[in-house]
Parts: sequence; C-alpha cells; structure tokens
Amino acid sequence: MPELPEVEITARRLDAALRGVGVESAFAPGVNTLKSFDPPLSELEGRAVAGVRRRGKLFLIDFAGDLTAIVHLMSAGRLQLFDKRAGPRDRTSRLLVRLPDDRELRLREFGTKQAAWVKLLRSEAVDDEEMIATMGPEAWPDPPPFDELVTGARPLHSLLRDQRVIAGIGRSWVDEILWHAKISPFKRGDDLSLEESQELREQTVATLGAALDHYERVISLPIPDKLPMPLEIHRRQGEQCPRCGATIEAVHYEDYVMCYCPHDQTGGRVLKDRRLSRLLK
Ligand SMILES: [Zn+2]
Repeated sequence: MPELPEVEITARRLDAALRGVGVESAFAPGVNTLKSFDPPLSELEGRAVAGVRRRGKLFLIDFAGDLTAIVHLMSAGRLQLFDKRAGPRDRTSRLLVRLPDDRELRLREFGTKQAAWVKLLRSEAVDDEEMIATMGPEAWPDPPPFDELVTGARPLHSLLRDQRVIAGIGRSWVDEILWHAKISPFKRGDDLSLEESQELREQTVATLGAALDHYERVISLPIPDKLPMPLEIHRRQGEQCPRCGATIEAVHYEDYVMCYCPHDQTGGRVLKDRRLSRLLK
C-alpha cells in the first residue's frame, strides 16, 4: 500500500524519466477509473509531460498547456513506466499513457477491486479538487507543530492516517512512527503532552525521511511491483522488538493489522485484540 515515501520516490523517478516526453495517446480501460469528463483524455495527445509530483498519497502528472492528471492508487494501485506496451490480455491496466518508442506509463491495479482513480483537470482547478482541497499539511518534510495539528478525541492511530488532518501517512508508516516516538497508538490526540507532540512530529519527519533515503539508495526504474519497505514493526507481530526485545503485539481489524511494542509504547499493557475478543464473546 503506497504511502508518502513510496509515492514520493515513484514521482521522483517518473519525473526524471518523463519530463519533456510527448504523449502519443491515452486510454482508460478500467471501469470507472476516469472520474472526470472534461477535458477528455484525448486532450493529452501531442502534449509533453511537464513533470510528475506528489501531494499526500496522490500523484499529480502535469502536461504542457496546463493540464494535470491526479492519480489515486487507493490500496492496490501502481504507477509504472514500461518499455513495452501492455498486451491485449492485460487485466491490470486502468490507465495507459502511450509514449514514443513503445514506452507506456501505466496505472495498474492488483486484485479484483477497481478502486484506483484518475481525474484529468485544467491545472488551475487542481487545488479545488475535493480531496486536495480538504487535505491537511504534508507529513514530510516540514509539518506544522503537532500540538495544533494532531488534536481531537480520536486515537493517534486513526488521527495520523486521516488525510484531512495530515497528508501522506497510512497503515504501514503509522505503526512505525508511533513505535519510534514510543507513544501508544490508542493515546488520544488531545491527551498528548507538549513534549509528546514535539517528539511525535520529530519522529514523523525522521521516519518518513529515512524511508525516502532508503528508497533513494535502492530504487531505480523500473519501479518494482512491491517496494522493499524498510518496516521494523508493522506486520511483525510475534517477532521481537528490534529496540527492546519484547514481543511485538497486534490488534486485528476488519482488513488490516496494527502493530506495537507493549514495552515501549503501552507501559507493558497488551491491548485487546478485537478479532479475538469478538470470537470469545
Ligand atoms: Zn520494544
């Protein structure tokens, strides 16, 4: 599931490869992938890519003549550049941008759900797009102080993943950030001390920055289907905490798992696993 570091490194690599490259044609074979109708995708023909950038977990692909495509990968999408065009039996493609020399920029999606989407807009309309207009400040590299930002009665695990509060963090990196900050995922935003909110901000920037540094070293084109995410705690339930050696615990939700170190984060308390407690009812 791509989050800020994964989208950022992909945007950097695609930007370097595509800037100035002209579009031959563009199609959206996915069902309901294209969520905008004006301008049509055919408007991209003959335009050059002006740049690829990121806002939160979204890609913004700018084209000459002030058009911008917003791409949301959702949980299973990938934006990748290929040297050969997709074959007719390819079922993963949701958007195809054909480039010279048989190259192709493809929005692909794995699994059966078609959730990834694209909007093609006039560039001046991008800031008014609903998701972007309601998006909080970027989690990296320089978010505002967390004592004003990460507030409310909701637990941090939920607050930090709310793109309207702070942009770029999802299920993987929230576990890592809270573990680095040694703060419980169930602590409420309003219950953070000033010191804790400062530490949380610092560890948010450091954790995402370190992931990006890692990707800068190991990722080159073609972007692999699965990025080598340098996770230390997420999805490592049952393993030893790399910092203190305690057993990493997990709370299972409907479609994801949250991990934490009881010794470092919850004063030794093992939080109730919802899945388990539901089974025991
Ligand atoms: Zn630990």
